[in-house]
Amino acid sequence: MKPIEINLEKIARLAELNEEENYKFRIFLKGQDTDKLDVIVYKIDQEIRSQIDCDKCGNCCVHLNPTVTDEEIEKFSEIDHLSPLDFMAKYVDFNDSDQTKYLKNLPCKYLNDKKCSLYSDKPEECKNYPHTQKEQFIHRTFIMIENYGICPIVFNLFEQLKMELNFK
Ligand code: SF4
Ligand code: SF4
Repeated sequence: MKPIEINLEKIARLAELNEEENYKFRIFLKGQDTDKLDVIVYKIDQEIRSQIDCDKCGNCCVHLNPTVTDEEIEKFSEIDHLSPLDFMAKYVDFNDSDQTKYLKNLPCKYLNDKKCSLYSDKPEECKNYPHTQKEQFIHRTFIMIENYGICPIVFNLFEQLKMELNFK
């Protein structure tokens, strides 16, 4: 296993430097067996997560806007002592292309010293981020490249995968 990299500035820099390589790696991954790749990704992901503490990072909450459901908007408006309409006006935007609603403030308004102040009430989207534990990794490589420079889990997973699959 490669040593884990958690320096966010370095990761962002390497994302720019490695962009072309990452797109080549994406094409390389398309030639892999889907199920076998999922097994390898799962194992690496577990190892990486055991070495990364999200409560000391919070970088996704600085750079990304999570989608929220209507039920979540209702819950957060209660937490914030606002009506759902007022909450929407202040904190939610609508994505026309995929018809989703998302929290619009960056960094996220619920981020408090690198931790989510909503704890277990956080949106499902946040609980599932960075989506490395789902099956069919092969179909999420584009979004992985987009997150490579933001999330240390994705960065280290991609780099470890390159090594284990002997990608040149
Ligand atoms: S709701 Fe919490 S976990 Fe989600 S982006 Fe905001 S601070 Fe991060
Ligand atoms: S999911 Fe990734 S970016 Fe978000 S806090 Fe954890 S390591 Fe950091």
